[in-house]
Amino acid sequence: MTGLPLQCPACGARYLLPTSLLGEAGASVRCPSCAQEFAVDSSGAVLAPGAADEHRQLARVVLDELQAREGAVLDAAVRERRLFADHGPQIMAAWDEFRRRAGSHAPSRAFREELRERFGVELFPPGSE
Ligand SMILES: [Zn+2]
Repeated sequence: MTGLPLQCPACGARYLLPTSLLGEAGASVRCPSCAQEFAVDSSGAVLAPGAADEHRQLARVVLDELQAREGAVLDAAVRERRLFADHGPQIMAAWDEFRRRAGSHAPSRAFREELRERFGVELFPPGSE
């Protein structure tokens, strides 16, 4: 089995990430030693710890823009829990925009969390990344 040497940014544990887990979009890793989650890009480089906060801020901006564009119609859809039914394509466009600005290696977590807190919806089934 081939693997890419990785070092956990939190506890310093070293291990091999199976290259089969590393797609073009990189990977989201949970350290087997300390359970810290961190992202690696497609080359296997660990992303800076601050990257998650930056991604969250970016998700906020993209969803602010979506709300500004769609206006009261979007707010009504959220209230009536019809967000994906009524605005699915717009949500996916916001997701594409997030990936365009954050870089294709950006993990989806920040966008998912912002979507959940703001609108109470899940972009992807739990556990998918
Ligand atoms: Zn660790």
